Amino acid sequence: MDRIMKKLIAGNWKMNGSLQDACELCIAVMDKIEKNGAAVSDCEFLICPPALHIGSLLNYLKDRPDIVKVGAQDCAAYDNGAYTGEISAAMFADIGCEYVIIGHSERRHIIGEGDEIIVKKVKKAIENGLRVILCVGETQGERDKGSAKEIVAKQLEAVKIDGINSENLVIAYEPVWAIGTGNAATVDDVKKMHAFIRAKLKEMLADSDNLRILYGGSVKVDNAAQLLNIENVNGALIGGASLDAKSFVDIAKAAN
Ligand code: PEP
Repeated sequence: MDRIMKKLIAGNWKMNGSLQDACELCIAVMDKIEKNGAAVSDCEFLICPPALHIGSLLNYLKDRPDIVKVGAQDCAAYDNGAYTGEISAAMFADIGCEYVIIGHSERRHIIGEGDEIIVKKVKKAIENGLRVILCVGETQGERDKGSAKEIVAKQLEAVKIDGINSENLVIAYEPVWAIGTGNAATVDDVKKMHAFIRAKLKEMLADSDNLRILYGGSVKVDNAAQLLNIENVNGALIGGASLDAKSFVDIAKAAN
């Protein structure tokens, strides 16, 4: 099966765990993927550990590079230079990251990032050969007001820039109210929003049919089969459940 048609099962480890925890989790994930073989062969796996741990994990992965890819949870909006505390897209690409998450709701709503900085980060990521997982999604208040689609459309339109295509961009629809709450969106909500995103991408890109749209927000083993088999759902971005190797890989099994 073509890479692009595989479901992307992406784990966002956020700011969790010691170096030892990260190494143990990485090894456990690799082992579980290998043991499950054909049962997960329709999936591409990605882990996004804390930036500090990525270099060490890539050492474990270098002998088995096709099993699981590594991504960053964010990158700087700038090229290398005097930006204390930042890590550039070039640096992540240089050490072997393939993906970067940009615009996660925790960065939009806790750290206060808006579309202006997000689009700069997307540009830097693609200029440096990284694939971007752009997170979009409405808050509970926005959904209650009936403006969920409008919010998502605006977040998508912000990244209508030269050079984006289905190879270097993945969209993750993550309703903010579903993240870390145990309250996943319903099948109907996901179906409608993913169809809307697909239609919106068609207006923006020539090869939009091949672009993967992930669902994220309280994906667990027991709701994975339902959520990941909806039309236009091409994988999942998983927070909490990705911190347990068995859950993470069992979600992929349910998707297969
Ligand atoms: C996330 O943070 O991207 C996420 C989807 O978290 P969780 O799976 O824990 O809801």
